[in-house]
Amino acid sequence: MNLINKAPLLLLLAVSVSCTSTKPSTFEYPTPEDTSTREITDQIKTSYRFDGVYVDNQFDCARMNGFRQINDTTFRVMVSPENTPINESAYFSFRIRSERHRKIDLEIEYAEHPHRYVPKLSYDGRNWTAMDSTEFDTLKGSFLATLRLRLDERPLFVSAQELMCSDNAREWTDSLASSHAFISQAVAGQSKRGRDILFLDINETAEGEKDCIVIISRMHPPEVPGYMAMQHFVERLLDDSRLSKSFRKSHRILVYPMLNPDGVDLGHWRHNTGGIDLNRDWAYYRQEETKVVVDHMVQFVKKEKLKVLVGLDFHSTQEDIYYTLTNNRKSHVYGFKDIWLEGIERSLDDYSPNDAPFDLDQPISKAWFYLQFGAEGITYEVGDETPRNFVRQKAIVAAEEMMKLLVLR
Ligand SMILES: [Zn+2]
Repeated sequence: MNLINKAPLLLLLAVSVSCTSTKPSTFEYPTPEDTSTREITDQIKTSYRFDGVYVDNQFDCARMNGFRQINDTTFRVMVSPENTPINESAYFSFRIRSERHRKIDLEIEYAEHPHRYVPKLSYDGRNWTAMDSTEFDTLKGSFLATLRLRLDERPLFVSAQELMCSDNAREWTDSLASSHAFISQAVAGQSKRGRDILFLDINETAEGEKDCIVIISRMHPPEVPGYMAMQHFVERLLDDSRLSKSFRKSHRILVYPMLNPDGVDLGHWRHNTGGIDLNRDWAYYRQEETKVVVDHMVQFVKKEKLKVLVGLDFHSTQEDIYYTLTNNRKSHVYGFKDIWLEGIERSLDDYSPNDAPFDLDQPISKAWFYLQFGAEGITYEVGDETPRNFVRQKAIVAAEEMMKLLVLR
């Protein structure tokens, strides 16, 4: 790093030391982002029928912007993002059926964006099968994927990722709160379009215990594997093992499972309905969702006199990766991430965690957890196509290793 880059980082650290508590501070980052609201285009919710083939996007988390027939056996779905420029997360989700049994070639056209996700199929919206690589083609540079589908009268969901919409977050928090007396559920506030931003307070701590971890997820709508990892991680903290009970006696756990419910339900590629990547808004909180969560979290931590040790933000990207703080950032649990990742590696066969530290250069949650609370901020990234049983296994191990480390501290 040269000195020109170093100067603003030193300045930023100086700012951070003076504001690690009370109300949300605002922060200057070396690479600022303009997160003022931008226009988005809503997809039209509708259904189409050509030659006995029916397609629709009339369900939560759907994304389909058009449909047409190309020839006797080929049909095309058009998909476009909520606005541009945007991260290349070419998310699609629609439902298709045919009046008669037939094989078709279904093209998905992404409006000058590359194909990204392995298509997943489901008849019931709950049980999913990823398409085999022999069942679809993507031509480099064509912005088109071609899926070979067998259709019949049963509606078939074709989706970039499994459908886990805001109703899933609600069902999940309801079921946890109703089955554990030590969990309180609340609404932190509303999204820009009025959806609830849910919050769980997991509190079985003994009198006087103030240590706390914060878990957030789903700022980015298509990042379903990260959201699944978050659920498995939290559920491991709630079980009846000695380790979990001991951890809960000494640590408060705050969970915000879905920060961008509008973007999720509307099938967005990346942004909220303000047209902004929420994970660039952790400086001035110009978007409703970021502001709601930050205000709620900071006030809650202050009111309960908590000390946030770790802030974990669950995402997914092309591969499993951990975005961590650089070693010059001395959090309340300095050294945590190195020992934690070593523990995860030890506990899993043939797995080597990909640690990608970078400094506090952008207004993202990882940096904010450190600046606001002095916490160890970590972005937990799961691969888009990481096998779901491994997503689960690794999340459970990650929860165990975190608990061991913090209980023994
Ligand atoms: Zn993400």
